[in-house]
Amino acid sequence: MGDWTPDIERLQTYHDEEWMQVERAYCGRLMAYVGRRIDDSQAREDVVQEVFLGAVRGIGSFDPMYTFEQYLFGICRNRTIDHLRRRKARGVGTSQDSSESLPGLDDIMTEEETPSGVVSERDLASQGQELLVEVLREWVQETWQLGEFTRLMVIEALFHGGWRNRDTWKRFGLRDETAVAGIKFRALKRLRLLANRRDPSGTLVPKLAEATGEGISHLELGVMQAWKGGRVSCPARYWVARLIAGNLPEEPAVFVRFHLDEMGCDFCQANHDDLGHMEGTVEDPFLERMQASTVDFLRSQVVSSEEDRDE
Ligand SMILES: [Zn+2]
Repeated sequence: MGDWTPDIERLQTYHDEEWMQVERAYCGRLMAYVGRRIDDSQAREDVVQEVFLGAVRGIGSFDPMYTFEQYLFGICRNRTIDHLRRRKARGVGTSQDSSESLPGLDDIMTEEETPSGVVSERDLASQGQELLVEVLREWVQETWQLGEFTRLMVIEALFHGGWRNRDTWKRFGLRDETAVAGIKFRALKRLRLLANRRDPSGTLVPKLAEATGEGISHLELGVMQAWKGGRVSCPARYWVARLIAGNLPEEPAVFVRFHLDEMGCDFCQANHDDLGHMEGTVEDPFLERMQASTVDFLRSQVVSSEEDRDE
C-alpha cells in the first residue's frame, strides 16, 4: 500500500475533491498524534479540524522542501501546543490531573527548546540549511539502499538523539568509542562530497567540516537541526505499514523500531498508531461533519481570491 499524496497545485486552487481526499487520507494519523497529547475527545476533533483549515490557509506558501505530510504534522504540532497553552491558562488539565499516559505541554515544549529540538521555520529559511537537509536526506537514502543499517542508526543516534560516542558504541555493540568516531568521520566525509556536488561554491561545507569533534559544537547544531527538523530519516508510511504487517525484512525493521522507540519520533509514532488500528477508529461522523465545514471554507476562499483578482 503506497501512501497517497495530493496534487499541491490543485490544493492551491482550493479544489474541493482534492481537499476532501486529503482529509480522508490524513485524518487518522493526525487524530493519532493529537490522541497521544489531548485526552478530551471533543478538543481532539476541534484541533484536527483547525489543522485542516490552517492547511488550507497556508497552502499558498507551501514549501516543497517538505513533504505534504510533514507540512500537516507541523501545523498539527503547533495547534496542539496552542490548545494545551490555552488549557493551561484556564488552569485546567495540568499534567497532574490529565491521564498519566499523556505528555503535558511542558513535555512538548521542552522537546522544542532543547538544542537538538525541532528546528524553527526561521532557521530553516536560510538556503544553506535547506541544502543541508537535502544532502542529509540523500545520505540517509543511499545508506538505506546499501543496507548499512547499523551505520544509519549510529548517525541517527548522534545527530537525532544527540547521544555521546560512549553511549552509542555500547548500544550497538561496537568495539569501542573510536568505532563510533570512525563511522561519524566517514559519514561526514561522504556528506561533504555530496554537499560539494550540489553546492560547488561551498556555503555548506564549513558546517560539515567542523562537525567532527565529540560533543556539540555550534556548527554541529546546524547539522542536528537539519536532521531533526528536516525529518531526513523518517521512513515513509509504507515502511511503517510493512513493519506492522510483519513483512519488513529484519534489518530495516530494526532501524524503523529504533527510530520509533528510541528516537521517539512523534510523527512516525502517530503513523504507527493510525496504521495499527486502521479499521474504524476514525469516527466517520466526525469526518463527515469536518468535510462539510471544510467545503464551506474552501468556497469562501475561492470567492475571496476571485474578489482579489477583481480589484
Ligand atoms: Zn520519524
